[in-house]
Amino acid sequence: MVKRPRVVVVGGGPAGIFAALKLAKYAQVTLLEKSKNIGGSGLYSDGKINFHPQIGGDISDFVSMDEAWMIVRELEKIFKEFGVEGEYPSDQIEMLLRKATSSDIKFIPAKLAHVGSDCLPDLMKKFQKRLEDDGVEIKFQESVVDLRCEREKVAAVITKNGEVPCDFVLLCPGRSGSFWLREMAEKHNFTFRHNYIDIGVRVEFSSKVMDEITIDNKIWDPKFHIITPSYDGFVRTFCSNPRGFVTKEAYGKGLLGVNGHAMKNIHSENSNFALLNRVNLTHPQEDTTQYGESIVKLANILGGGKPLLQRLGDLRKHKRSHWESIKKSNIVPTLKDVTPGDLSMVLPHRIVVNIIEALEMLDKVMPGVASNSTLLYAPEVKFYSMRVNVDSNLKTNLDNLYVAGDGAGLSRGINGAAETGMLAAFGIIEKIKGE
Ligand SMILES: Cc1cc2nc3c(=O)[nH]c(=O)nc-3n(C[C@H](O)[C@H](O)[C@H](O)COP(=O)(O)OP(=O)(O)OC[C@H]3O[C@@H](n4cnc5c(N)ncnc54)[C@H](O)[C@@H]3O)c2cc1C
Repeated sequence: MVKRPRVVVVGGGPAGIFAALKLAKYAQVTLLEKSKNIGGSGLYSDGKINFHPQIGGDISDFVSMDEAWMIVRELEKIFKEFGVEGEYPSDQIEMLLRKATSSDIKFIPAKLAHVGSDCLPDLMKKFQKRLEDDGVEIKFQESVVDLRCEREKVAAVITKNGEVPCDFVLLCPGRSGSFWLREMAEKHNFTFRHNYIDIGVRVEFSSKVMDEITIDNKIWDPKFHIITPSYDGFVRTFCSNPRGFVTKEAYGKGLLGVNGHAMKNIHSENSNFALLNRVNLTHPQEDTTQYGESIVKLANILGGGKPLLQRLGDLRKHKRSHWESIKKSNIVPTLKDVTPGDLSMVLPHRIVVNIIEALEMLDKVMPGVASNSTLLYAPEVKFYSMRVNVDSNLKTNLDNLYVAGDGAGLSRGINGAAETGMLAAFGIIEKIKGE
């Protein structure tokens, strides 16, 4: 029997899982995952899966729009095999498009599936079984610490238990592994560039404000893009959680921020979304990761190691929030392990202005979202600010090294990560077939 090439996939999040599913037929695949289960940060999300190539990243950066849609259809097909189906938003979408357009806001409609954070662990077990049935060797609690490179190729990945030799490597360590990935790039000379960074807040408000859009019209995760009047800044809504909860998120290096999730069967009185402000930096400080880290550090210092919480009414009046003023709000925070504070002591002026203006514009589409009671948690920073340089198959400048997912700066959502995982797998398969 011909020996099949050995592919090592690092990271068992959506990028690694979907890559391994595709590769299993053509290669001997080993999936190395540092935690005890697959799913990655996707496992801690509530699993809102957008079936659109330009949401959760933009795979049309690498392939034509037609090919991008083919990959999205493939993703839908695989999820359907696991009982997860997307729904088109209701007919009311036209009305929302009109409302958004007349308020100078861009709205991007997409087919969406909502798994629910309470149902995700079972779904991941089914994915794990499929991978194992297909012959993928999954090694848990196996943290990859380094690579061994020989003549512009990766010869093996190194874990604390030893070396795993390979013909191809696909690195998809997610956002929590992006600092490590950068270290690897610097050490082994695969090139990267600084990406933009998204810095903002988690906005929490009464679910009544968003129910018409999310529950009545089934647009679970509405994507609004806003250009703010004062700074011409780009601000977008991200990761909406109807009747959901705000959570803490560890960014690595001891840094702490916020995020949100919603469950299928357990609901809160509130809804939340991230409101993210895009920041690009130019000479002499192009490193957006350093910039983002310093903002998170400052927020963590001021919050005494906890995220900050401020009432929008207090922010408008240039006042720090205290628990007394939070109690005056009609909204009871779903995340209580926070420090009431003043976001303008932490976020640069243009970001604060952009956030307030974006909320005021959004208020025309979702009346009530910019009320004084609205709660703002900070910091919420998306560290996909390093982008590995890749070709259209997501191959780096090293001959057999591929990358995918959020950690490499190529995606920013479950669907985008899974799509880039498949794209990298197709690139590896093409090489295997050609050899
Ligand atoms: C609370 C929360 C809610 C979210 N909600 C949504 C949502 O509803 N919809 C959506 O589209 N997106 C959501 N996201 C984002 C989504 O989860 C990510 O975009 C997606 O999981 C990225 O996939 P990935 O495979 O690139 O990385 P990850 O999912 O982060 O997976 C990376 C994996 O690699 C492992 N790893 C890292 N370093 C190493 C190493 N050195 N060796 C071995 N293993 C390693 C990690 O343990 C992890 O399992 C949410 C994220 C969070 C945190």
